[in-house]
Amino acid sequence: NVKANKGRRFEFYDKDINSLSIQKYEMQNKLRNALSNQEFVLYYQPQVDMATNQILGLEALIRWNSSNGMVPPASFIPIAEESNLIIPLGEWVLENACEFGKKLQSLGYQIPIAVNLSMLQFKAPYIGELIQSILTRTQLPPELLELEITEGILMDNEDECEAILSEFHRMGIQVSIDDFGTGYSSLSYLKKFAVDKIKIDRSFIKGIPHYDNGTIAKVIIELASNFNLQVIAEGVETPEQIDFLLKNNCHIAQGFYYAKPLDEDRLLTFMEKTKRDMA
Ligand code: C2E
Ligand code: MG
Ligand code: MG
Ligand code: MG
Repeated sequence: NVKANKGRRFEFYDKDINSLSIQKYEMQNKLRNALSNQEFVLYYQPQVDMATNQILGLEALIRWNSSNGMVPPASFIPIAEESNLIIPLGEWVLENACEFGKKLQSLGYQIPIAVNLSMLQFKAPYIGELIQSILTRTQLPPELLELEITEGILMDNEDECEAILSEFHRMGIQVSIDDFGTGYSSLSYLKKFAVDKIKIDRSFIKGIPHYDNGTIAKVIIELASNFNLQVIAEGVETPEQIDFLLKNNCHIAQGFYYAKPLDEDRLLTFMEKTKRDMA
């Protein structure tokens, strides 16, 4: 009986959806508890001058230190973004990254810290005021804070984006475009918006030079130079990639070749070692 079958299938499907939304709901609760129990931690990945090995910047990357082990952001950021939880979570990230930046400064390291901003955070009313109050509270100079946004964020409502980016610019904060080349936005925003830096997505670095001749990476480096933007390569893992990038005028890299994202103590050890090696 076709009809009965259909009915059963539908029921089954319906139950699946239900358990999925219950799972999501439970996950959101867990994340909320994790936030109040201080279970999140920031790791930092160095951004390195490939010619000198000097550390030029750090990117803050969140992890959840849960009772079941360390959870990567890909497993919970999307869920936090679906609820409004990304707002308080993002504020926690900003505050802690700025505090750490200040600590580094007091240790003699003048290194900007990059923080990833979600769409909801970027478009939240008073994002400028929020960041200003965090900078004031932590006493981090604005030029030591960088905000990473993706092209997708800039896709709708150009006027609104322009206003927010100009405000960041006036405050003296750096802005970079993350995962550059993977979004669907038009390139015209590079001319229109106050951005400082583009980060070549890992997918365009990955196969160089064995499976990929680096054409897209080259075009992005050229584009950055034409717009007077800094350019950094994400996901650099091999000396061949470094050779290629240096030859093609990209000097800054972030990737496992230099360091994985590290907790504060390991990062400090890495920075001290780099300083010793350079001296
Ligand atoms: P992203 O901002 O593009 O960060 C770079 C990601 O690439 C990091 O993954 C980093 O560990 C990874 N990566 C860096 N170098 C290499 C490499 O050489 N090889 C490989 N295979 N991977 C490399 P992670 O930490 O898992 O973060 C994933 C994404 O989660 C980030 O991508 C970002 O979109 C998001 N995210 C992380 N922290 C935050 C946060 O505090 N707030 C928000 N809104 N999003 C965050
Ligand atoms: Mg990023
Ligand atoms: Mg990226
Ligand atoms: Mg990414």
